[in-house]
Amino acid sequence: MLGKSELADDKLLNELAGEISREVAGRCLINESLARHTSFRIGGPAGLYVYPASVDAASSLVQLCRHRGLEFFTIGYGTNLLVSDDGFPGCVIDLADGCSRVVTFENGLETGAGVWLNEVVRIAAESGLAGLEKLAGIPGGVGGGMSMNCGAFGSAISDHLVDVDVMDADGTVSRLSKETVGFNYRKAPGLAGKTVLKARFNLPAAAPEDVLRVVDETVSERFRRNVMNLPSAGSVFKNPPGHFAAKLIESVGGKGMSVGGVEVSELHANFIINRRGGTAVDALELIRRIRRMVLQQYGVALELELRRVGSTDDPEID
Ligand SMILES: Cc1cc2nc3c(=O)[nH]c(=O)nc-3n(C[C@H](O)[C@H](O)[C@H](O)COP(=O)(O)OP(=O)(O)OC[C@H]3O[C@@H](n4cnc5c(N)ncnc54)[C@H](O)[C@@H]3O)c2cc1C
Repeated sequence: MLGKSELADDKLLNELAGEISREVAGRCLINESLARHTSFRIGGPAGLYVYPASVDAASSLVQLCRHRGLEFFTIGYGTNLLVSDDGFPGCVIDLADGCSRVVTFENGLETGAGVWLNEVVRIAAESGLAGLEKLAGIPGGVGGGMSMNCGAFGSAISDHLVDVDVMDADGTVSRLSKETVGFNYRKAPGLAGKTVLKARFNLPAAAPEDVLRVVDETVSERFRRNVMNLPSAGSVFKNPPGHFAAKLIESVGGKGMSVGGVEVSELHANFIINRRGGTAVDALELIRRIRRMVLQQYGVALELELRRVGSTDDPEID
């Protein structure tokens, strides 16, 4: 793999960007700030940030990265990410351009991984297709949602899923059934190391006005309970079996605790808010402190729900 120091060399980055522009249909950015692509507004630059224009282009890009020893990962809308202040010394793949179609059927729909999940929820509701409405208001895309098995109010994105099209790390595309993926609470083990390209859902028919009403109610409830309009990465920790992470954090006095520019939300103790230009170093220190307090008082080791990108060598957290 090309290292951080090699990729700090603008000449090499320009050379790689030139090669990508020649061989991969799509847009390629150099030293793109990842703070611009994350809801936390934290993170240094990605060496290369590429929007492949199609599935074929995404496959060519992955092959090129492998050939050139360039580390890569697929980003969604960055709503569950904590990116290191050093950024990511490789290639970030964004499917917002290349996997952006939604097609509805009588009993379901097929959506590209790069589509904003709320757009899919709205299209389903307006088409009289039920089953996705409790996901309304979860920020992020379909691919990120699949990878996280996102969910809320007792519903998960995998509930009505039939199958997903995925690309392996060598660019090969295949179809995986929902059962093969083995979805679990905020986990999709069968998708590890793969890029989701498309997902198909079986959705029962319902009156559009009924589905839209539940969508509206769900969004209102979400805004009442969660911190939706300040920079954050959503829930920081998973709920440990038998507990709610937010309750544990609140009961050890975590609410309002701050480090540098970040602080634990007063509304929802499992959210860390980036109030004043916080950094990844600030966020990680606050995460460590909260974890220690909960571990000391309850003997529960909180596990991260958000995903870390970039230098992540931290045995206490990872
Ligand atoms: C205000 C707020 C509220 C939230 N509420 C909820 C909630 O109620 N429930 C919930 O579950 N989550 C919630 N989240 C977290 C987040 O919205 C979800 O996890 C979301 O599904 C992440 O999608 P994304 O596209 O932003 O993924 P990203 O954050 O970009 O990526 C998350 C992970 O998915 C991977 N990934 C992204 N795209 C693909 C792809 N195409 N193929 C394979 N892997 C991919 C990334 O590599 C990364 O590991 C909330 C976040 C915020 C900021």
